[in-house]
Amino acid sequence: MNRSATGLERLLERIDGRGYPAYKEIKGSWTLRDFVLEIRRVQGDPFAAPSSVAVLLDSHVAGFPEALTAARARRTGLSCLLARTFADQARRLGQLRRTGHGRSGEIAMADPGQVVLPQTAVLVGEDGRLEARFTVGLPANGRRVRGRDAARLLLETLPSLVASSLVARAHDPAEAALHAETNEDAEFLRAQLPERGLVAFVANGSLLPRRSGDDDRPLRREDAVLFESPAAFRVVLERPNGPPVAGMGLPEGVTLLAGGGYHGKSTLLNAVARGVYNHRPGDGRERVVTDPTAMKVQAEDGRAVAGVDISPFIGTLPGGGGTARFSTANASGSTSQAAAVIEALEAGARLLLVDEDTSATNFMIRDRRMQALVQGRDEPITPFVDRARSLYEDAGASALIVIGGSGDYLDVADRVIGMAAYAPRDLTARAGEVAAAHPTGRLAETAPARWPSMHRCPDPGSIRPERGRRRVAVKAHGTAAMEFGRERIALAGVSQIVSPAQVRAIGLALARARAAMGANRTVEEVLEALRERMESGGLDALSDAPSGDLAAPRVQEVAAALNRLRTLRVTAP
Ligand code: ADP
Ligand code: MG
Repeated sequence: MNRSATGLERLLERIDGRGYPAYKEIKGSWTLRDFVLEIRRVQGDPFAAPSSVAVLLDSHVAGFPEALTAARARRTGLSCLLARTFADQARRLGQLRRTGHGRSGEIAMADPGQVVLPQTAVLVGEDGRLEARFTVGLPANGRRVRGRDAARLLLETLPSLVASSLVARAHDPAEAALHAETNEDAEFLRAQLPERGLVAFVANGSLLPRRSGDDDRPLRREDAVLFESPAAFRVVLERPNGPPVAGMGLPEGVTLLAGGGYHGKSTLLNAVARGVYNHRPGDGRERVVTDPTAMKVQAEDGRAVAGVDISPFIGTLPGGGGTARFSTANASGSTSQAAAVIEALEAGARLLLVDEDTSATNFMIRDRRMQALVQGRDEPITPFVDRARSLYEDAGASALIVIGGSGDYLDVADRVIGMAAYAPRDLTARAGEVAAAHPTGRLAETAPARWPSMHRCPDPGSIRPERGRRRVAVKAHGTAAMEFGRERIALAGVSQIVSPAQVRAIGLALARARAAMGANRTVEEVLEALRERMESGGLDALSDAPSGDLAAPRVQEVAAALNRLRTLRVTAP
C-alpha cells in the first residue's frame, strides 16, 4: 500500500460511511509531507477512549538549535513548552469545531501545566528529533466512519497544528531559549543547596500566590506582593544562564513560619513544597528550589496504615495495642500524621513541611494545662513539638513548620520567620526574648525516640494492579485519586502530586516496583531499585506500550501511593 498522504486520503475515502471498526485499517505509519504520522491504537467506537497517535519530526524539520536540545535539563524545558503549546492550541481547536458524534474530531495532549518535568507528551531527542504523542477522536456519524472529515482532520488540521506548535519557526527563538535555560538554571540552583547547608531557596522577586485554590497559574502581578528575603537569610546563588540570584536561603534545622492569619504563611510553605519540581518561566516560582526529598506531611484521618512504627509519637493505645507495627484501615488525625512523618523518613525525606492548616492539633501541641488535665497512660501522644529537634539532630530531617497558633514551638526552633502582609521578617531574636519573658511551664515529653524506627518489607502479593484481562490497570481521577487494579487509592492528602499524568506514572511505577519486592526487600531497597529503573529507562520503561500521558514522579510520591493502598501488607525483614 502507498503509505503517503494520498494513500491515507484514498483509504479514508474508501471506508467513508462504513462501520466504525473499518478505521482499524488506518493503523500504522504514514509519511506525510514533512513528518511521519503513526496511528498506534485505533479506538473501537466513537464513544471509547480516543485513538493514540504520534507524529515524528526529523531534527531539520523541527529546527531547534543544538544549544537547546543537547543538554538534558534544557531539552526538558523545551519539550514542556512544546507540549503546553500543542495542548493549548488543540484545546482551542476543539472549542471551534465539533464534527460528528462522541469524541469525533477532538485532538488532545496531556498539558504539563506550570511544572517542568520529564514527560512523554513531547519527547525531544539529544539530536533534535522530536516525537509528539496525543489522542485523536476519529470522526463518526453514529457508528459510521466519516472518512472525509477524518482526512481533513489528519491531513489538514493536524499538519497545521504541528506547524504552529512543534517546530522552531512557530516560536520566538528568545522565548524557546528562555524555557530551556530557566529549567537548566533551576537544576543548578537546587544543586547548590547541600554545599551551603540549605534545604530551600526562594529568589527575590518570586511571585508565590496562585490565581485560586484550583488554578495553579500565578496571581496577577498587580495583585501580588513579590518575595523579598529578610537580610538575615539572604544568600546569592550562581546560575549558568545569567547573573547570580539573590534570595532567601533556608538553612537546615527547625524553622518556624509564624505570623497572623491570612498573611501568606501557607502560600510560602506550599511554594517550598512545590520547589521539589521546576517551573516554567513566568510562573513566579521558577527560582524557588527545594531539597528534592522534601515531603509535606499532613493529617489524613480515614486513611489506611500498614505496619508503621509510630511509637516515637504515639505510645500504647486504648485496649493496650502497641504502636511499633501500627496497622489500621481507619487512622485518626494524629495517627495518620504520625504515620506520614515516619513514612517520609522511610522514603528518604531530609525536609518535612508541616502546616497547621492541615495538621491534627493534638499531634502538633499539648500545652501545660492539658498536660495537667490528661496524664500518663491516658494520653499516648508525644506531640511533634517534642520530637522536632530529635528529628533533625538524630534523623537528619529538617522541618519547616507553619504555626500561628502555639508559642510552645519557640523553644525548639533554630529560627523564626514572621510573615506580615506577605513579607517575611527575621523574628528569631524577638522570639528568643518572648520565650524568656513568657515561660510556658510545659514539661517536655522527651523519652528518647529511635529513628529511623522501622524496616518494612512489602508483600508483592498484596499489590494487585491487574483488572479483568488487563495486567496493569491504572486510571487517574484528577490528582485526588487513582484506580489501581480493583483498588482505589486516595491521594488528596499527597499534596505534591501535580497532574493526572503524574498520577498515572505513579500507578505504573507501583506496578513495576512489585517486581523488586519479596525476598526480604525493604521499602527503601524497593524505592532505590525503582529510582534506578526510572533514571536509566525513563518513563517509557514504566509501561508496555509507549503512552503520551506520563509525567515523572519522585519515588516519594510512589511511596505515598503504596502507603495508601488499602490491600498493602508488610512483614519484618
Ligand atoms: P496564611 O497561611 O498566613 O493564613 P495564606 O498563605 O493562606 O495565609 O494567604 C492568604 C491569602 O493571601 C491567599 O488568598 C493568598 O493567595 C494570598 N497571598 C499570599 N501571599 C501573597 C502575596 N505575596 N501577594 C498577594 N497575595 C498573597
Ligand atoms: Mg495558612
